[in-house]
Amino acid sequence: LSPVPSDIEISRAQSPKAVDVLAKEIGLLTDEIEIYGQTKAKVRLSLLERLKDQPDGKYVLVAGITPTPLGEGKSTVTVGLVQALTAHLKINSFACLRQPSQGPTFGVKGGAAGGGYAQVIPMEEFNLHLTGDIHAITAANNLLAAAIDARILHENTQSDKSLYNRLVPVVNGVRGFSAIQLARLRKLGINKTDPETLTEEEISKFARLDIDPSTITWQRVVDTNDRFLRKITIGQASTEKGFVRQAQFDIAVASEIMAILALTTSLQDMRERLGKMVVANGKKGEPVTVEDLGVTGALAVLMKDAIKPTLMQTLEGTPVFVHAGPFANIAHGNSSVLADKIALKLVGEKGFVVTEAGFGADIGMEKFFNIKCRASGLFPSVVVLVATVRALKMHGGGPNVTAGAPLKKEYTEENLQLVADGCCNLQKQIQITQLFGVPVVVAVNVFKTDSPAEVDLVCKIAKQSGAFDAVPCNHWSAGGRGAVKLAQAVEKAANQENSFKYLYNLELPIVEKIRIIAQKVYGAQDIELSPLAQSQVDRYTRQGFGNLPICMAKTHLSLSHQPERKGVPTGFILPISDVRASVGAGFIYPLVGTMSTMPGLPTRPCFYDIDLDPITEQVEGLF
Ligand code: ADP
Repeated sequence: LSPVPSDIEISRAQSPKAVDVLAKEIGLLTDEIEIYGQTKAKVRLSLLERLKDQPDGKYVLVAGITPTPLGEGKSTVTVGLVQALTAHLKINSFACLRQPSQGPTFGVKGGAAGGGYAQVIPMEEFNLHLTGDIHAITAANNLLAAAIDARILHENTQSDKSLYNRLVPVVNGVRGFSAIQLARLRKLGINKTDPETLTEEEISKFARLDIDPSTITWQRVVDTNDRFLRKITIGQASTEKGFVRQAQFDIAVASEIMAILALTTSLQDMRERLGKMVVANGKKGEPVTVEDLGVTGALAVLMKDAIKPTLMQTLEGTPVFVHAGPFANIAHGNSSVLADKIALKLVGEKGFVVTEAGFGADIGMEKFFNIKCRASGLFPSVVVLVATVRALKMHGGGPNVTAGAPLKKEYTEENLQLVADGCCNLQKQIQITQLFGVPVVVAVNVFKTDSPAEVDLVCKIAKQSGAFDAVPCNHWSAGGRGAVKLAQAVEKAANQENSFKYLYNLELPIVEKIRIIAQKVYGAQDIELSPLAQSQVDRYTRQGFGNLPICMAKTHLSLSHQPERKGVPTGFILPISDVRASVGAGFIYPLVGTMSTMPGLPTRPCFYDIDLDPITEQVEGLF
């Protein structure tokens, strides 16, 4: 329709097919799905065993140029591309998308189901609770947080002996260790199984973690943009006996458990990663892990359903996995390894799986290759780089683009000079993609204000800059039909020579790995570590975590650390203010400046528009 109706109107106008019908169409067996309502189903991991000998399909990554704060349409292109591949070119394909946090849905950004005629439906299901994975993460995260503070309280208010007697209680007249406690004894080098035979020294070693409260890095989480929880004081009731400390809440998707969900490859791997998470240091400086706290099994239990990807569909009835949505600021911002792996089996050798990396290619794609591909062992045949005339004009010197404000005339009228000047950012992002040796197709996501000459100019410059191909896409206004050219270009590119390589060797020192990313990807002259960052690097190296990949926490609004510097900034020194580790997820994350892990609500949040029709039970106002 023209004008294109709102996302929710489009979503509602299409009746989705029943999810069991969809599941059957794509070759899932009845006992491989768990149905949630009529339009969503979780898919069991047993499928991977059944299809283990089936060759994988082609793997396509959708990344983007440095975006405006409005987003340039990566999710929309991902959905449009699979609609074109499956519904129009009759090639099996799957889209793998991240589950959005409810923070932005009610805050500023709105949902993330794509948009226009390239969406996942029903979009309200996609954007709200889905199948409860984020709630499961919240529960697991907060159980762990509670376990840490309770442990400190109990250790500090009891003698070694009484602590031990409570940790290893007498049940039916016998004192016995649990399996988790036996594992801890082995880790401590105490090869005993009878609780009555431990020496006093061993009892103390076993019972005390001696956590230094000032080193606790594990925070509580909630999936709401609640800025007043950025700094809190806990333990103020008299029952906590003065164990008061300052803490904070993060948004739930910033939890390391979310990053683990996105990177894990099996239930066993997830349990191991959960157990390895470091939550604090002991008073002697040694890392305290989840395994030490004895809560690994309980966290795995809370996460046992979340590990299964959720099956949904696009507007054109093609299959989609929605799974995991790690915060792109401090984590890697990519959807799950498991969803991609399952989808690659389901589409068959000639099929395509299209997955998306958050933010611009300098961040989302770099992390996709260096972190996600390392965890999965997969690598893509093609990268699709999404560009918009709007963002390129901004890089060419156009005025600021801000959410909620009308676009200035530079963006609504033809201006070939601004586009040409801004293409330096596109060129640089193409070069970054080429560092990994994978062919790149540029998708120009066309807006109704773009002139044909502007779109042609972007395609021409992209091809001159080394892109395998560059095509305009109209999926937002025309659905899959509008992305057929893109689908054809991607199909051709997938048959090209591919010389994939990682950007750095894991064995390099942490600082060297950071420098390689800063110089080769961002174009920095060098990096500069604060004394705090340097001492953290030294600590992690000492603790044996130096071989992990790097997950930079940098603004996505510029290639540099300064969001206002557009185009291709040069000559800057990248300041590293702090360095932290997500040992369970398996990466070190240097902070470039300060990174908020709890967004706030603006004066006019999206919730003003959201309502429920009590008669039809329909959700209104989501976008
Ligand atoms: P990203 O994934 O890059 O953040 P999205 O695909 O979520 O971007 O798109 C951001 C917003 O822009 C969505 O609300 C989407 O509906 C809208 N949008 C995307 N492409 C177009 C287009 N070609 N014309 C108009 N609106 C668009």
